Amino acid sequence: MEMKLKRICVFCGSSPGARPEYARAARELGALLARRGIGLVFGGGKVGLMGQLARAALDAGGEVIGVIPRDLYERKVAFSGLTDLRVVNTMHERKAMMAELADGFMALPGGLGTLEEIFEILTWAQLGMHQKPCGLIDIAGYFSSLLTFLDQVTREGFIDAGHRATILSAETPGDLLRQFENYQPVVADKAEWALGLTD
Ligand code: AMP
Repeated sequence: MEMKLKRICVFCGSSPGARPEYARAARELGALLARRGIGLVFGGGKVGLMGQLARAALDAGGEVIGVIPRDLYERKVAFSGLTDLRVVNTMHERKAMMAELADGFMALPGGLGTLEEIFEILTWAQLGMHQKPCGLIDIAGYFSSLLTFLDQVTREGFIDAGHRATILSAETPGDLLRQFENYQPVVADKAEWALGLTD
């Protein structure tokens, strides 16, 4: 059965990155979500890939919700003209709200903020706190060494192979969205796995 995705949260760089492919992919994803009637939840910034993503979704008539901490908002980096901008007190509140609002989580290329955000969501899935699809959009091979490293971490016994298999990846936004739509939720329990209670 196809999964109903009302909103997807996208984590991505507040910088544009070194290759034009990154911004192109951010715009492609924004427009794609809007065309499919899927709302976008993102960090609320106007800069870098975030700005490109939000602009493209809005231009295509999509719903765009930004969730931004107060200090970033006061530093005037917020995107104005979104469907909805939620100003929260802390980074932790922001991530909790983004997680609550979305039915799935994608990462486009980005830096420490992007990596931290997608890894926290993957950690929550591993603990069985949610069963929503999560994946990386591997534009121009950007995430390939990270995906290889995750395989190494799995081989070395620090990630359950079943959980590794739930970390989706694709080379295009459209391909990852298709995988999200066909995703069968898996209930993971890292605590049980670590204790050897599951295989
Ligand atoms: P980074 O990948 O380090 O550029 O960080 C990007 C991620 O961190 C985004 O997904 C945002 O949630 C958050 N972030 C970093 N900088 C900003 C900013 N100037 N405005 C809004 N959010 C930001």
